[in-house]
Amino acid sequence: MAEATYVGHHKKKIAFIFSSMRHFAQELRDRGYHVRYVTIDDPANSGSFDGELRRAVSDMCPKSIQLTEPGEWRVHEIVCGWQASLNTPVKIVEDKRFICSKAEFAAWAAGRKTFVMEFFYREMRRKTGLLMQGDEPVGGKWNFDTENRRPANPDMFRPERRVTSQDAVTDEVIGIVGRLFPDNFGELNDFNFAVTSSEAIRISDDFLRNHLAEFGSTQDAMLADDPFLNHSLLSFYINVGFIDPLDLCRRAESAYLDGRAPLNSVEGFIRQIIGWREYMRGIYWLSMRAYREMNFFNSERPLPAFYWSGETDMNCVATVVRETRANAYAHHIQRLMITGNFALIAGVDPRQVHEWYLEVYADAYEWVEVPNVIGMSQFADGGIVGTKPYAASGKYISHMSDYCANCRFSVEKRTGDDACPFNFLYWDFLARNRNRLSVNRRLSRQYANWDRMYEADRVEIIESAARYLSKLSQPEGV
Ligand code: FAD
Ligand code: SF4
Repeated sequence: MAEATYVGHHKKKIAFIFSSMRHFAQELRDRGYHVRYVTIDDPANSGSFDGELRRAVSDMCPKSIQLTEPGEWRVHEIVCGWQASLNTPVKIVEDKRFICSKAEFAAWAAGRKTFVMEFFYREMRRKTGLLMQGDEPVGGKWNFDTENRRPANPDMFRPERRVTSQDAVTDEVIGIVGRLFPDNFGELNDFNFAVTSSEAIRISDDFLRNHLAEFGSTQDAMLADDPFLNHSLLSFYINVGFIDPLDLCRRAESAYLDGRAPLNSVEGFIRQIIGWREYMRGIYWLSMRAYREMNFFNSERPLPAFYWSGETDMNCVATVVRETRANAYAHHIQRLMITGNFALIAGVDPRQVHEWYLEVYADAYEWVEVPNVIGMSQFADGGIVGTKPYAASGKYISHMSDYCANCRFSVEKRTGDDACPFNFLYWDFLARNRNRLSVNRRLSRQYANWDRMYEADRVEIIESAARYLSKLSQPEGV
């Protein structure tokens, strides 16, 4: 219960994790192990890892305890006290869900002034041998992103997503979640998560067969009627340990070697896993505690209510919140360039943004969510993870999606009550934070454009932003 309530997770996230644990416990029993599984509604359940371990130790008097290193600082701190207080040897083993250990990442980071992901990624390519020809990257380049980042067209022939089977165990868990967490964000109906390793592997086979080839080219695209495009929908399963990340990357590499998927897609997919995923975890353990509290821009605005209700005239934001509520999922570019971008340019308190992301996505755990939100998306770390803030105007969203065609706001307009809020907020964000950002050479073109504008236009932008932001802070919002 402590794990399910330290933030108010999406109902589907809780159901997915509890059903997966129950299935795993049964699988172990079937393989002949003795399993002590305490259900959340068991009256004897003390409700926390610590309480349950102590109860188990007192019932079973074990000779020793062995566990996998925890994924989060919060749990790490609980676990650290066990050796001293339990009077039983406690052995903590490395987490096999990662390719790079914490110690290895710390060694890579030691002595570096900056932690550029691309260089870390090259180390991981060398270490794993993925897409390598001797010491050189296959295709002569490490990164093929220039061939990606294309808008997508609605495609009625894009293969349907596999529907998972829902058994009695999942039915029971869904009932319990509905009963215990009735007010949490998110819908429980149309549950479509794999809850066993074998089913998750089948989903990954489907992805490799039907979507990997187009993964790269549509990676940054957004479409109103297609929440998944060619994304893998595998983060949940990799993060809970159903899918081994290295094995998945090797299967993706084979798809390239056998001519089933092009290099730009396969390299891009592998980079997300052995690059970004490992890197984010490394950053979390390297600099946590202080990291979660960082607030480079001193942003203090409360998170707008429409992050929960979806009630906003901004079609892009409303669509992402609606899909998030239904699926406990949004793909990377929706998280980064819609909800993340809006919070960044509107000056929302990064701590509140972090809690929202941790609650609403089924793949969210602090080790991966915090560096993505505090670092990549909100630039609240001042540039540890990213080299510049992911701030963008409506022009970017209009180019990469079809959201703007059905929006009350005009993406062409920069000021006024019917102008796209992303437009004036974007410029206002740059102007507001000039003293912090103008030293960043990657933003010099933007500041030159701002300086070239007529004074009257700049004033109008700042006034439009001020009007909008003051309404945003009122209870009725915008
Ligand atoms: P795909 O697009 O198919 O990518 C393949 C895999 O690469 C993913 O399954 C994931 O394992 C890995 N991956 C891709 N990008 C990242 C990244 N930036 N960091 C870590 N792994 C990555 N991912 C989480 O797993 N949990 C989170 O809580 C989370 N929060 C995020 C918050 C924000 C603001 C942003 C911008 C990104 C966040 N991500 C998070 C990263 C990424 O958006 C998700 O991993 C991805 O959307 C999951 O969907 P998918 O499996 O379809 O990914
Ligand atoms: Fe979003 Fe602006 Fe486009 Fe509306 S016009 S969908 S608010 S980017």
